[in-house]
Amino acid sequence: MANHETSYKKLPTMWNYLYPFQGDGSLENAEPRASQFLSTKSNPNGKKALYVHIPFCDTICTFCPFIRSTNYQDKLQPYVDALAKELAMVGNTEYIKGFELSSIYFGGGTPSVLTPAQIEQLGRAIHANFTLASDCEWSFEVEAKSATEDKLQAMHAVGVNRISFGVQTFDPEYRRIFNLTASYDEILRTRDLGEKYFKAHNMDLLYQLPGQTLERLEQDLYQAKQLATTSVDAYPLEYLVTSKGFLNMMKNGKIEMPPNADDKLALQQFAVNYLRDNGYDQTYVYTFTRKDARYNRFMFGETIYGRYEDEYIGCGLSASSSLSGLSHNNEVELDKYIAAVEAGRLPIRTAFEYHAKERALIFFPKVMRISQDYLNTLGLAPDYFEKLNRFEQQGLIARDGNDLVMTEEGKKFYLNMMIDLIPDDQLVYYNRYVERTQQDRQWFESNDLISLS
Ligand code: SF4
Repeated sequence: MANHETSYKKLPTMWNYLYPFQGDGSLENAEPRASQFLSTKSNPNGKKALYVHIPFCDTICTFCPFIRSTNYQDKLQPYVDALAKELAMVGNTEYIKGFELSSIYFGGGTPSVLTPAQIEQLGRAIHANFTLASDCEWSFEVEAKSATEDKLQAMHAVGVNRISFGVQTFDPEYRRIFNLTASYDEILRTRDLGEKYFKAHNMDLLYQLPGQTLERLEQDLYQAKQLATTSVDAYPLEYLVTSKGFLNMMKNGKIEMPPNADDKLALQQFAVNYLRDNGYDQTYVYTFTRKDARYNRFMFGETIYGRYEDEYIGCGLSASSSLSGLSHNNEVELDKYIAAVEAGRLPIRTAFEYHAKERALIFFPKVMRISQDYLNTLGLAPDYFEKLNRFEQQGLIARDGNDLVMTEEGKKFYLNMMIDLIPDDQLVYYNRYVERTQQDRQWFESNDLISLS
């Protein structure tokens, strides 16, 4: 049980982020700076990943903060053509020529809006311009309505070996509120095709939903178990970064308000215990892999939440990249993105030079384990070790041989711990983003843990 002396007194309002953040000056001359960086040689150590972004969806889920468009029919092929060109440009830079990809991830948006021919086109562009490890994990996000067998066959043929689909909830009332339009039969078909063609199939589940009770969550978890995907990613809904329309529905009383912080914590504990008691291993703090799964890694996650020398390059509209010493983001407007590629330029909008030696430590609460020997090689400032000592004294982390591991008490507060570990010079960007988003959306959730104060 929580110790009142050691636990946090509130939950954070924003926690889904990539690290490092991009700070002041990132817009200035971004493309030339990034191109210069990419003309140098990379460090062959570490895991290397490619992310490919498809920014279109058939319907818009009300909670979704991602950049995407539904009116895409005329734009899809020009976009795929530009993306194939960008893949060729990026893959042939000196830096990326040194990458052997241990994972590829197609995300969005909804990558399964691509036709089989477009999947093959992009698959060819990747094989022609990148080096893939023999056991490269290749994931594709799919949405159940558009995940037809011909598309999944095309994915399989180019080398995809893992799919992930967002069920979010089985509850009909929540599905209506969130505008989740796939039928249960379509969800089941996607799962069965996942089993037929791929070594892994993951489903996303959201919890801490407006007005959600433990009974309603239990129903969702039961159905998730029945679907028997190889893994389940169970995420708390992050209200601050949902759409304005969704927040307005809550402000106007059209849907219930979020659970209070104590109930959020109770829902989190319930989800974790339920999945662990029902044959799943907690492989990441929010990822639960069936004990009998054929494949139990998530190599792309290991890279984006990985060490300083683990790097990923993003291609496509608004895709982000994190290299050892530079993070950059692509154009966010489709016309600008396509025009840049057509002109033979990398479509880069922001770039930020920063050596995030501490990256693995920032994500340690999510990944749940970190090697002390590795930490000792990084030359980190003493404050990081002071924070770790404090966590250990508070019972949030423990030692297991040479590793630091999250305790059960720590896992409850992993979101708080991730934010506590951000160094001051990066925390200013995090705080600024949270404040601006709160102002923009006029959403100020208290998240105070009453039972612990
Ligand atoms: S949750 Fe996925 S499918 Fe829904 S709108 Fe967002 S990106 Fe599209």
